[in-house]
Amino acid sequence: MQAETKTCQNCKNDFQVESEDFAFYEKMKVPPPTFCPECRMVRRFSHRNERNLFRVKDTRVGKEIFSGIPPQAPVKVYDHDFWWSDGWDPMEYGREYDFSSPFFDQFMGLMRNVPFPSRNIQNLIDSDQGGDLKNCYLCFNSGKVEDSAYILNANLVKDSFDLNDASSVEISYASLGIGESYKVFFSFYCDRSNNLWFSQNCVGCSFCFGCINLRNKQYHIFNKPYAAEDYFEEIKKFNLNSYGGLSKAYEEARKFWDLHPRKFIHGYQNTDSSGENIYFSKNVKFSFGIEGGEDLKYCQEIYRQAGYWEGGKDSYDHYNWGYGTELMYEVCGSGRGCKNVRFCLDCWPAVQDLEYSYTLRVFK
Ligand SMILES: [Zn+2]
Repeated sequence: MQAETKTCQNCKNDFQVESEDFAFYEKMKVPPPTFCPECRMVRRFSHRNERNLFRVKDTRVGKEIFSGIPPQAPVKVYDHDFWWSDGWDPMEYGREYDFSSPFFDQFMGLMRNVPFPSRNIQNLIDSDQGGDLKNCYLCFNSGKVEDSAYILNANLVKDSFDLNDASSVEISYASLGIGESYKVFFSFYCDRSNNLWFSQNCVGCSFCFGCINLRNKQYHIFNKPYAAEDYFEEIKKFNLNSYGGLSKAYEEARKFWDLHPRKFIHGYQNTDSSGENIYFSKNVKFSFGIEGGEDLKYCQEIYRQAGYWEGGKDSYDHYNWGYGTELMYEVCGSGRGCKNVRFCLDCWPAVQDLEYSYTLRVFK
């Protein structure tokens, strides 16, 4: 089909449906969207709460528990452990479909009746959030994290505090977008590096301070090389053991970074892709936070599992997770091998051929 300009039913702005989009909708057997890409994204985001915890009453026993679901939400909430137990049977909530009444009214009725798990967590040891976490405090949307706190969107992190977007990182603090590194402090978008302070876009570097755009360098301060012994003497002058010293060094680094050009995208090893934070991807368009993606459009936070190649492929409007997903459309919070899923929230792992479902777990 030819490209078509449509008017968003929500914000009333025009948006374009390209001929390749029609082909995808045809393949998924769904009608073309009536909301623009941004309104569809906001609609998906509105169903996900990653960072807020509330005190709520367990619907079954009235005990006060922590939950990601706010107390004013008109739904039933069971304590996480009980929700996962055989102590209740969700099939008891089964009901006949009434063809004389609208589908969404009936779906809403079902959602308000079947209990939700209090928190979206799994395999925690002395931790409060996420999956596969050990001895962690307030780590959100993260997996395989140990002895860490205040971590967001991370995988395989150890002995670290205050990180966002980190993968395979140890002994690091207050940094964003760090991969395969250790001892990285107050730094942004650095890879395969160690002992970095206040550095940005450095790859394969060690012992660098206030640097930007360096590749395979060591003992540099503000992009200037030093002999190893001189480097440590120079660093001492910044008094990094005081808050004043840290703040001043950070300010100087920011001023130095501003003198240098930034790449138009955070990402590499991409073919024919557009968006931001895109890595190892092919034909990924208008997407953000993608690793190992192929033929994706309007997707956010679709990652690949450490050691695997595929994040997600052949999907539109998929927000959060990935790990080998395929043929996803208007989905939020689904990963680990899910396939052919439409209009679903928080359904995993390896669910297939699913429509209009909420909080399904399939374990075999
Ligand atoms: Zn809109």
